[in-house]
Amino acid sequence: MSQARSMSAREPIRERRPQFWQVAKRCCQIAATVDVAFFFLFHILGSPILAWVNVISVTMYVVAYRALSKKQNRLAIGLIWAEVIIHAGLGIVLIGWDSGFHYYLLMFIPALFVSMGLRAAVMSLLGLWSYYVALYLVMWFIEPVQPIAPGALLAVYLFNLSVVFAMFSYLSFFYLTMVTTANRKLRRMATTDPLTGLFNRRHMTYLAEKELARFQRSGHPVAFLVLDIDHFKAINDQHGHEAGDRVLEEVAGIIKAQLRTQDLIARWGGEEFLAVLPNTGLNSAQASAERVREALLAHDWLAKTGERIDITLSAGVSEFRRDDDLNSAISRADRALYRSKEGGRNRVELEVV
Ligand code: GH3
Ligand code: MG
Ligand code: MG
Repeated sequence: MSQARSMSAREPIRERRPQFWQVAKRCCQIAATVDVAFFFLFHILGSPILAWVNVISVTMYVVAYRALSKKQNRLAIGLIWAEVIIHAGLGIVLIGWDSGFHYYLLMFIPALFVSMGLRAAVMSLLGLWSYYVALYLVMWFIEPVQPIAPGALLAVYLFNLSVVFAMFSYLSFFYLTMVTTANRKLRRMATTDPLTGLFNRRHMTYLAEKELARFQRSGHPVAFLVLDIDHFKAINDQHGHEAGDRVLEEVAGIIKAQLRTQDLIARWGGEEFLAVLPNTGLNSAQASAERVREALLAHDWLAKTGERIDITLSAGVSEFRRDDDLNSAISRADRALYRSKEGGRNRVELEVV
């Protein structure tokens, strides 16, 4: 336990989302490609020191890329940090602030907050800011060590600016995709039942309330089916809980297949389902429930042992009434279900009008 805790304290960086490391690898590839271009560019522009710096940079990115592939994320992040900081510093000292190498430092601002805890990110941010300001001040007082022609400097500036624009766009797109995906996942987790994929009780209540409001406005009928698997406890007892779970998944699939796409279906309790059927009167709803019941009967239910399982379902049907509320509409369907059970199960009963 204590070992697990100390591991996670030492390497929190490992716990980041896998996509983050994919993006880090992609950034290594892009940066190494840019540095190869720089090697030739600075030779042509007459700045050999800066040209050879790029050979070291490409090596660092290759090592960082390999480290990321081997999940040595700390080493990789350290190398990327060192490369950008040293490269930007050297570029500015050698050919001047107007080369635009300092823009690369700004790319760390969002990356810092993604790759470490808040406290560490703020400290690193302060360090980065100090370095940035120090570079600017140094260049205020000294001349570039290895200046290049003004036209060449302009070309380097425009190149750096464009690369930083492109990389910022790529990172922003990545962050946006990550947030959108996480939101979608959270919404699905909050609204659905993990076993069957149907709506959960809370979300169904919300949706059914909306149907009730629509019914009160338009008067279109809305029906309720409460469907309950018969003697489900015995299925669990005889075939195991896992087999019971598989039955629940398959029953959910059958209900979905037999109802229309606009019908709302939820796992209402353990082995009980609720369906809300918009624009459906009592008789059509009864026919839908019968369809589900018959489809369940027609299905081949086999346990892992190859043994047949008898699965049937009982249902109660009700519909919204004027001045109704959700609880009473569902209670009437529940009472109809109770009569189905009392009457011998494997049947559909309507609410008492
Ligand atoms: P009835 O015909 O009267 O409905 O009888 P029943 O056995 O289906 O009803 P009962 O309410 O007595 O038992 C329901 C069982 O459903 C008990 C519970 O263990 C089981 N159950 C509830 N949720 C799950 C689940 O997620 N997975 C599995 N495998 N079983 C569950
Ligand atoms: Mg049951
Ligand atoms: Mg039940």
